[in-house]
Amino acid sequence: MSAESKRSSIERRATELRDLIRHHNDRYYAEDTPEISDAEYDALVKELARIEAEHPELVTLDSPTATVGGGSFTTFAPVIHAVPMTSLDNAMDSDELHAWGERVAKGLGGAECSYVCELKIDGLAISIRYEKGVLVQAATRGDGKVGEDVTANVATIATLPKTLKGTAKHPVPEVLEVRGEVYMSIEAFQRLRADKESENARRAAEGRGPLSVPVNPRNAGAGSLRQKDPRITADRDLSLWCYQLGEVRGGPDFSHHHDTLEFLKSLGFPVNPEIRAVGTLTDVYAFCDTWRERRHELPYDIDGVVVKVDDLRQRETLGFTSRAPRWAIAFKFPPEERNTVLKDIQVSIGRTGRATPFAVLQPVFVGGSTVSMATLHNRDQVALKDVRPGDTVVVRKAGDVIPEVVGPVLSLRPKKSEPWEFPETCPCPLKSTLVKPDDQADTRCVEPSCPFQRDQRIIHFASRGGMDIEGLGERTVFALSDAGCVSDVGDLYFVTIDQLLQLEGFADISARNLIDSIASSRTRPLPKLLTALGIKHLGPAASESLATEFATLDVIASASNEKLASVEGVGDVIAQSVSSWFMKAENKAIIEKLRAAGVDFGRVERSSEPQTLAGKAVVVTGTLANYSRDGAEAAIKARGGKSPGSVSAKTFAVVVGSEPGASKVTKAEQLGVPMLDEKGFEHMLATGTLP
Ligand code: NAD
Repeated sequence: MSAESKRSSIERRATELRDLIRHHNDRYYAEDTPEISDAEYDALVKELARIEAEHPELVTLDSPTATVGGGSFTTFAPVIHAVPMTSLDNAMDSDELHAWGERVAKGLGGAECSYVCELKIDGLAISIRYEKGVLVQAATRGDGKVGEDVTANVATIATLPKTLKGTAKHPVPEVLEVRGEVYMSIEAFQRLRADKESENARRAAEGRGPLSVPVNPRNAGAGSLRQKDPRITADRDLSLWCYQLGEVRGGPDFSHHHDTLEFLKSLGFPVNPEIRAVGTLTDVYAFCDTWRERRHELPYDIDGVVVKVDDLRQRETLGFTSRAPRWAIAFKFPPEERNTVLKDIQVSIGRTGRATPFAVLQPVFVGGSTVSMATLHNRDQVALKDVRPGDTVVVRKAGDVIPEVVGPVLSLRPKKSEPWEFPETCPCPLKSTLVKPDDQADTRCVEPSCPFQRDQRIIHFASRGGMDIEGLGERTVFALSDAGCVSDVGDLYFVTIDQLLQLEGFADISARNLIDSIASSRTRPLPKLLTALGIKHLGPAASESLATEFATLDVIASASNEKLASVEGVGDVIAQSVSSWFMKAENKAIIEKLRAAGVDFGRVERSSEPQTLAGKAVVVTGTLANYSRDGAEAAIKARGGKSPGSVSAKTFAVVVGSEPGASKVTKAEQLGVPMLDEKGFEHMLATGTLP
């Protein structure tokens, strides 16, 4: 390619990127229904910024890299900002954060500087103006110079003071403009989503097309704030954190940003409690690192941390670029939402015959791993979300949570797309009819000899929560089953080395190891064996209760329904399921195979500790000095207690270590559940009482 044609292709790409970014700005800022994820948007902006840096002659004054937001809109009356509302530059990692630190240090001629770290709330920037202590106007950011008048809508936010009372130290300024972020809490978002999905179900029943359902709290919050009818906004339950002063007339003089936040707090504004003033960039990075890990403990979404130079005079020295302050940076967290193509919807068959639809996706890197499949749970969920093969969908993977298909991007739906129909037959070679009772959410394959169910039962039997057979994963189970070596879990104990050597991937040592680990699983405790059998409704807790009460598998197998149901934590449904499982001939045959293999039917591990916490639920949060998390929970269970993962009104106590989970502590405070430190925990373990 000649230099000339290379240059013109770069120029074309820059123009194309500008048009694309403007299109997505409109969808995001004006319509609150983006077509691409933030990560994809950021990649477009980064590419344009790189081209502009390498080819300064291609820079245009109105380039999205030099302007704020998506321009001003016409839905509401315009408001001219007395002090422009800017955007923020981004740092994606520690190197970019330190590069910003170096730019700041250079800008300050090498002077020392300290920082304030704030959570980057994923919402919508707002400017709220008070005159003589009375709320007079609230405006969106718009293009940074002109925003939209959303006063009536902002006034619906419960925590926003409508009039201000000063203190002797801080009288109310003549004019006070406060800046902050309006956001929708995760709880309010889930409520709104559920409402919208039910509305769509009603529309579908009437043969009408779906309305778009907000895919995340940010878009839901932005859409709710920009409603023409403030009564709708009021219903949506928006919230606010304030983080900055705008125009101030007749107010106190401040030297540091953190003092301005204290001032806002003293006037009754909601200021986020997690804000920290820190002395070094190392501390800044530690704060970012902590919140990258803990972001899901918050009841609202954050997408990063905003780092601001604390000294207000230093800020003046540093000043602004055309779109952002030089004295602040947004440290962005890795994306947890991406858009991708839903290639197909297929159905998997579980060990109890449940048919679960799942999405086959164009592989996409999200939340730290590549996602190519995601469960769609059941028939109703697919109908509610109305996702269809061929759709562009939003995929979310937050922390350790399994990936989720949030919903379709309706504006990109291919023409002539039809709602997905649940298949009528099982995908296994028997192709038996799938059944959905009207009163149940699940569709099932009810054919007892379904080979897909059988394989899943064996996988479950060997899994960590069951007989924990090391080396017996999905792939080996499928291979053994295809080779005709196993047709139920009892057969596992009769698999031979020769049979394993016939399978792909097995050699002498690996085959011997697997045979040994199958053999050593014969002595698993009774609750594990019970769980491993995969009896419908019977989980580890009820298995534990049955084992404690009846001591051997044979006694459980012959116990009456009433006797089983009378055991604490069992009840009618589980009892019925257990007794009918043991009555079936094919299951009796499995039990006999296990007996013949020498599987221990009566190993119950009893604790030698006094049962001081019998029946009590104790939640552990944070790090303890003398116990690992598992160790603390084991100590509670050894004394007869339970250690659930969340706090409820029934919780006896919450043990709070260092860096505890904010949501657990807040819940305990709300419900009045006693909180203990490590010393109190040890006292409680010994006595069963609170100190
Ligand atoms: P930004 O969101 O990266 O940062 C600036 C904003 O952060 C401020 O305006 C303010 O609203 C917010 N903020 C939150 N907490 C804050 C705090 N404590 N202090 C100061 N500000 C705080 O920049 P932006 O210009 O608002 O938006 C650009 C971003 O929006 C993109 O990076 C992208 O993630 C998203 N976007 C997405 C699309 C899309 O199509 N998906 C389109 C346009 C923009």
